[in-house]
Amino acid sequence: MPLLRSWVVSANDPAGSFPLNNLPCGVFSTDDEEPRCGVAIGDQILDLAALEQEGVLRLADDPVFDVPFWNEVMELGPQTWQALRDRLIVLLSEGATERAEVAPHLVPMAGARLHMPFLIAEYTDFYAGRHHATNVGTMFRGAENALPPNWLHIPIGYNGRASSVVVSGTDVRRPWGQVKGANDTVPRFAPSRRFDFELELGAVVGTASARPVTVSEADAMIFGYVLLNDWSARDIQGWEYQPLGPFQAKATATTISPWIVTRAALEPFRTATPPREVALLPYLAEPGPMLYDIALEVDLQPEGAAPTTISRTNYAEMYYSAAQQLAHHTTSGCPMTAGDLLGSGTISGPEKANRGSLLELSWGGKEPLALAGGDLRSFIEDNDTVILRGAARGDGYTIGFGECVGKVIPALTDPYAPS
Ligand code: MN
Repeated sequence: MPLLRSWVVSANDPAGSFPLNNLPCGVFSTDDEEPRCGVAIGDQILDLAALEQEGVLRLADDPVFDVPFWNEVMELGPQTWQALRDRLIVLLSEGATERAEVAPHLVPMAGARLHMPFLIAEYTDFYAGRHHATNVGTMFRGAENALPPNWLHIPIGYNGRASSVVVSGTDVRRPWGQVKGANDTVPRFAPSRRFDFELELGAVVGTASARPVTVSEADAMIFGYVLLNDWSARDIQGWEYQPLGPFQAKATATTISPWIVTRAALEPFRTATPPREVALLPYLAEPGPMLYDIALEVDLQPEGAAPTTISRTNYAEMYYSAAQQLAHHTTSGCPMTAGDLLGSGTISGPEKANRGSLLELSWGGKEPLALAGGDLRSFIEDNDTVILRGAARGDGYTIGFGECVGKVIPALTDPYAPS
């Protein structure tokens, strides 16, 4: 599919993130108005609440866009998502007859504030990248036992916290926690010194299900994708994770990018999961390509210094797709809800330059990373900013995700000090 040309001239830049082919869904506000739903087009945001109020856009009997979340639109289902996309493409295409009705409702992105794009119902994070699991397993258990015996059969996950999911631009405070290092005889309560990011993609579940679903049904339930940083305190994680997995190590914050890139926009970029090393049980079989070719990058930027790109990888490196993860999530009868967020798991590639966490990039702190300004990093220092970017590159256009940014601010002096 080529670039769809728009009368919004900035949307026709082949390297721009938000062409007419993309139309990602966000929630924005301006100085004088409440947060409401919009889509990105070029360097503008189209105010869908205003278009709905003017009668130019109508999805349901009641208004659905004049709210600070996309959940109501999601709940209308995949046919309505497609109808919305089709209508917006008509309204924004070059030569559109309704251009005069639409143009007054474009808001410059530069002057708008972006908010959480949807109400997170629940959050589950997976461990589905082969390279990441192999790297981490090698560090903790040795190369012989790197992959747990279930790994090639089950998309491993844990139930995370929706309450600490935040939008890009929100500062993240370094957590305190219980840690016990290799040289400690007893555990200590201290600020995390091995605070890390994880480069992930988040799948946004758009429709509910109360029964086990197939991989094909699961794929149809996914509304879209966001960039996701699963902040991880490795020293807390190392002490607490056996036998039930991560708990406080991952509960501080999870940052997502503000634009939900729809599944429809990503269709041209579908690609298959890698060959199966052992056959999966039939309920996990994929009916077609379920991953996407999305180039991903991570920048680390100390305060007052230039950013350094420390990782480049691709979502196509995953072993399990979001559709497989979602199908597996329902096998027990676990109900899924519109607004559920599924983290892909850390997306590392085969080479050192493709690793999606500092734990892997610095090999547990043994091989500190040199940044552009000469600073060394094993883990995140106070006032460092981590920036995730993602883009699918098509024939003369780019489906961009925008940025997923978070700055780590210093730990409290003592969280239990009397106030
Ligand atoms: Mn993770």
